[in-house]
Amino acid sequence: MTQPQSQPLLELKGISRSFMAGEREFMALKHIDLRIEAGEMVAITGASGSGKSTLMNILGCLDYATGGSYRINGQETRDLDDQALAELRRDYFGFIFQRYHLLPHLSAMHNVEMPAIYAGTAEAKRHGRARELLARLGLTGHLSHRPSQLSGGQQQRVSIARALMNGGEVILADEPTGALDTASGKEVMNILLELHALGHTVIIVTHDPKVAAHAERIIEVRDGEILSDQANVREGAQAPSEPPVALEGNGARRLVASLGLFREAFNMAWVALISHRMRTLLTMLGIVIGITSVVSISAIGEGAKRYVLKDIQAIGSNTIDIYSGTSF
Ligand code: ADP
Ligand code: MG
Repeated sequence: MTQPQSQPLLELKGISRSFMAGEREFMALKHIDLRIEAGEMVAITGASGSGKSTLMNILGCLDYATGGSYRINGQETRDLDDQALAELRRDYFGFIFQRYHLLPHLSAMHNVEMPAIYAGTAEAKRHGRARELLARLGLTGHLSHRPSQLSGGQQQRVSIARALMNGGEVILADEPTGALDTASGKEVMNILLELHALGHTVIIVTHDPKVAAHAERIIEVRDGEILSDQANVREGAQAPSEPPVALEGNGARRLVASLGLFREAFNMAWVALISHRMRTLLTMLGIVIGITSVVSISAIGEGAKRYVLKDIQAIGSNTIDIYSGTSF
């Protein structure tokens, strides 16, 4: 196909997703056709169970379609392996979930840095960007707080910073205000509007018409099908500016990145051990008891074997009796 001037950022053609429900096949998405242009702010609405999250997971390459074609910036995703999908996900998407999905034993800073660790960004740059994003979201005083020490609204802001860490050209938000009180929900919506104004493509999945009303386009899903897809006139809508620049590209940093990744994995494992001292202690105790038992059992076995052999030797298995005489 040659229509370079009108290639959408995201393009779904005949996308289906089925799940096996016992013996029967259940179609959660039925031949969805959808085009989303760069810089759009779209709301995907519909009742619970209509297929919104399934659609969002496919858009974000978190799940596979069972039929149809999905192109991101012209690139077909159907035949990509897990590694290639992970790279697409990292380069294009930032995710925001209803329940934040922050790692509980890591600080706000560390949670925000996580996507950049996998992208292989240098440590100093990572720290700088995480600090800057958290500051922009009003969390300067909470850099070292763990999720349990933050309010719901603050946790969601940390997760927005995390979504932006690698650039977050497309923000996919699944019920981003669903777990928040009205004030925090409004705050999160304002941040999403601001991101849209900065040129990010924002896709919000919501069952709440009030949230959907902020978008410039509303897509309604019912029973796995698109029921309607309409422009929505908003008050005070701003034209989007230049598309956001992704922080990192691919390239020769891979080797350095994988070494850095190993070190980071070690650091994170260490932090996890330290932050769950009791669990670590009990696990160690379990391992010590296990190894001690195995060693003792084999020592007892060996001892018993020697004891029995000694008894047999005492009976005379290695003595020679010599009698006088000629022959048998
Ligand atoms: P929504 O987000 O609109 O509430 P979902 O996309 O989560 O709905 O789910 C759509 C339908 O697909 C539901 O009927 C749900 O039960 C089904 N579904 C979603 N994920 C799975 C799965 N992993 N296995 C089986 N059925 C699923
Ligand atoms: Mg859902």
